[in-house]
Amino acid sequence: MLTKKDIDQIAAELGFSAAYCIAPSETDAVSEGIRTMILLTRNYMPGNGLVDAFYPCSNAAYHAASHMIRILKERCGAHAERLGAVKVKSVCSRIPAFGQGKNTLNYLPGTGSRFCAEMIGITEEIYGEEGECFPPKLLPCDSCSRCRTACPTGAITEHGFIKERCIRFHMLSGKPMPEEYRELIGTLPGVHAILGCEVCQRACPANSENGLSSEEEAPYKLGDYLVMSDDTLAGFAERYGRNYANRNRILAQAALAAGNSGDPSLIPLLERLLDSSSETVAEHARWAIGRLKQE
Ligand code: SF4
Ligand code: SF4
Repeated sequence: MLTKKDIDQIAAELGFSAAYCIAPSETDAVSEGIRTMILLTRNYMPGNGLVDAFYPCSNAAYHAASHMIRILKERCGAHAERLGAVKVKSVCSRIPAFGQGKNTLNYLPGTGSRFCAEMIGITEEIYGEEGECFPPKLLPCDSCSRCRTACPTGAITEHGFIKERCIRFHMLSGKPMPEEYRELIGTLPGVHAILGCEVCQRACPANSENGLSSEEEAPYKLGDYLVMSDDTLAGFAERYGRNYANRNRILAQAALAAGNSGDPSLIPLLERLLDSSSETVAEHARWAIGRLKQE
C-alpha cells in the first residue's frame, strides 16, 4: 500500500522540494475515483537572465511530474494522473503551510514565493496524516506593503491585485504592451526582458532568505531572440516549455528589449520585423526603432 513516505521519497528522487497530500473537494476538477491530490513543489533560485528562473524550473517540474506518474504506476501499482485542470491557488489555500501575498502569489515558510507547483491525482487515500506538522504561515502581509511600493506599474493596490496592470500578464497576452510600460522591459532589475517580472518578489521579506543567485546561465542573447530561428525556438521550448515557445510573443518582447538597449546596431534586425504578420511584433519593432533613433 502506498504511503506518504513513499510519495515523499519518489518526489525527492525527482527533484521536488516537498509533497502535500489532500483530499479533492467537490469543486476540484478531478476524474472520478481520484481520492488524493498530491501537490508537488520545486524551489528555485532567482537569476538575472532574459527569462525569469521560474520558467526553466516550471518546465523541469512538469517533466518530473510525468516521470512520477510513471513511477507510481510501475513501482507502486497506483493509478496516477496529472491534474492539469485543478487550480493550484485554490488547493494551496486549503493547505495550512501556504500563505498568499498581496501580489496573489503563494508563499511557503522558509522558501518564499520562488517555487513551481505540479498536481497529480491518485486513487489511494493517503492524506490526513500531516495536518499537525505544518509550521505556521510566515507572511507579514498585514503590516507590510513593500510589494505594492515596489511594483512599477501599480498592479498591487490597497484594494487588491489588478491583473491588467501586471507586466507578466502583458508579456503573455500576445497583444501590444501598453506604451507606458515599455521602457521598463529590460531596464528595471527584476523585469526579465523576454519573460517574467519578479520585482514584487524581490521586495518581499519572505523571500529575503533566498538571496540572489549568481548569474543565470543564458543560452540565448538578445540578437538570437530578434532572429528567432527554428533552432532557437526549439531550444527555447526544450528549456522553458512548449507553452511559452511562441515565436511572435518572443519576437515582440525582444523588440521592446532592443528598443531599451541603447544599441543602434540592432536596428537592422528590428527593421526585418516591421513587415511581421503579427501586429504586436511590428508595433513593438516600430517603437523600438523610434526609441533607438532618438538616442
Ligand atoms: S509581477 Fe511585476 S508588474 Fe506584476 S505585480 Fe509583480 S512587480 Fe508588479
Ligand atoms: S512584500 Fe509584504 S505585503 Fe507583499 S507579499 Fe510580501 S509580505 Fe506580503
